[in-house]
Amino acid sequence: MSRQTIVAANWKMNGNAELAAQMCRGLNDEKFNANQQVIICPPAPYLALLKANISNSQVACGAQNINENEKGAFTGEISALMLNDLQVQYVILGHSERRAMFHDSTELVAEKVAYALASGLTPILCIGETLEEREDGETESRLSYQLAPVIAKIGIKSFKDVVVAYEPVWAIGTGKTASAEIAQQTHEFIRSYLASFDADVAQQVPLLYGGSVNAKNCEELFAQADIDGGLIGGASLNVEEFKKICQAV
Ligand code: PEP
Repeated sequence: MSRQTIVAANWKMNGNAELAAQMCRGLNDEKFNANQQVIICPPAPYLALLKANISNSQVACGAQNINENEKGAFTGEISALMLNDLQVQYVILGHSERRAMFHDSTELVAEKVAYALASGLTPILCIGETLEEREDGETESRLSYQLAPVIAKIGIKSFKDVVVAYEPVWAIGTGKTASAEIAQQTHEFIRSYLASFDADVAQQVPLLYGGSVNAKNCEELFAQADIDGGLIGGASLNVEEFKKICQAV
């Protein structure tokens, strides 16, 4: 079975209207493989601008987070309903910055994933270990610990509608990419963990690698059997570099 390949841009709290316009112009004329999806996840204020200016059917938009409630007195938050309203299809959940700085616990992330799916959104679920955890040989237990509550909450059959991004915390924004070998080994573990619940679902779920991916290292990473694309931070703020990464899948 050929899985969908995905390159997603996580702008974090960066970018502006000019970058949004440049990105739309840059991606609208690009030709991608038939099975490929490109996703731009800008800060929420730019979602409508991107949606209005993207004409390439293989380029979609995503948010960087949602609140787990439908609506109400949650100042500063955005809801799945608002993303539905803008026809935004994707949402990044459980990014390590949210887990570390905004107290998104594994249970809360599971709740958000469930709510996103129930709202018709595709969650891009981020998981990853810290350097200390890797050095202590705890990578696999950490990843299972992050995946288990999501599987328990939504059920393994629904997990086929989730995209997983493996992002080692030590590689995010540090310029230290996991070697292709380490990334592949870890992706293989994630797929085998999912397969221990359901082999078919495990084969369907796109597994993205994230962590200092750039135009130079992307080809080797994307050539690995269990790496179906990438979640790109810093390098997604440069239109030409991001286009090269998209073409490398
Ligand atoms: C990210 O924040 O999701 C990310 C992968 O960042 P960077 O590519 O900058 O390491």
